[in-house]
Amino acid sequence: MTDIKNDLLISKRLITWYEVNKRDLPWRHSRDPYVIWISEVILQQTRVAQGLDYFHRFVGRFPDIDTLAQASEDEVLRYWEGLGYYSRARNLHAAARYMAEHYGGRFPQSYEEVRALKGIGDYTAAAIVSFAWDLPYAVVDGNVYRVLARLLGIDTPIDTSEGKKQFGEAATLLLSPDYPGLHNQAIMELGALVCTPRNPQCEACPLSDLCLAYARHEALLYPVKQGKTKSRTRYFHYFHIIYKGKTWIHKREADDIWKGLYEFPLVETAAPADWAELVRCKEVALLFEGCGGVRIAKISRTIKHVLSHQVLLAVYYVIEVESEGYLSKHYLQVDADSLEQYAFPRLIHKLRATLSDSQ
Ligand code: SF4
Repeated sequence: MTDIKNDLLISKRLITWYEVNKRDLPWRHSRDPYVIWISEVILQQTRVAQGLDYFHRFVGRFPDIDTLAQASEDEVLRYWEGLGYYSRARNLHAAARYMAEHYGGRFPQSYEEVRALKGIGDYTAAAIVSFAWDLPYAVVDGNVYRVLARLLGIDTPIDTSEGKKQFGEAATLLLSPDYPGLHNQAIMELGALVCTPRNPQCEACPLSDLCLAYARHEALLYPVKQGKTKSRTRYFHYFHIIYKGKTWIHKREADDIWKGLYEFPLVETAAPADWAELVRCKEVALLFEGCGGVRIAKISRTIKHVLSHQVLLAVYYVIEVESEGYLSKHYLQVDADSLEQYAFPRLIHKLRATLSDSQ
């Protein structure tokens, strides 16, 4: 690893490059911490192109902390529907309510208070306070890890506590004391546009003559990661059950994926299972208890849905029954044509798009 001695030079070059090359994104026209917060949370796990629409819709409907705080969680989740990582929306809502109650509907103005809000980690807190008020807190996101690892030749794995500490210190040492907000945005933008994971444009980089990895032709060796988290496979079977124009859904409440979203009755199995195997399963028998005749109207094909540490293999059945039976006591009955009022995981929309008539 190189010594960090060109700190101000690096920062000046970053900012000069940024002023000319930055993308024109709507949240960059604002220093309102609320707008910055919403954009940062949307962009945490979402590409800019996909996040833009969500940002406009979300801020259009919830333009400030108080409006967000007064909305129901169901409505907030509906505006988040399809973005994934729904805990982000639940946390936004909870933090807005907290600020409405404890800070008069305004953002607190210290890093520590912002960092203490629900769902706000080191990165988001640093982004909010530096972009909005130029407080000297360095952001370290995936782009910054990559730029710093290459520029300074840091080979400590970024997914270790030692790595996080080292990169945090390096980012702080390089931070411009005069323009921390601009500096932070510039280094992230360089990582997003120039120092990209697989195809860094070193010839166009304002830091190339200072960059250790470039000098060694080793850019693609950085950043170093220790290891991948194993992912687990789950088998989901959804039952969209129809009786006299009604169907049944429920809200996911457990501390699992998609908490707060709605779904159709779900049976999860430990291995793949077709209908013949499912009907022998206790949960399925219980679900259709008292429903009289059961007729499969449509079946989706199996859809693979990949989450950060899980792979879901899911099938969706549309089933007509002759009576409500067990369903009426354990699920929420809704009109079949009112489903758009509820926020569903994107997987359900994908499954519904593949429905075909049962043979
Ligand atoms: Fe990244 Fe290449 Fe610039 Fe180094 S010279 S910071 S590897 S783009």
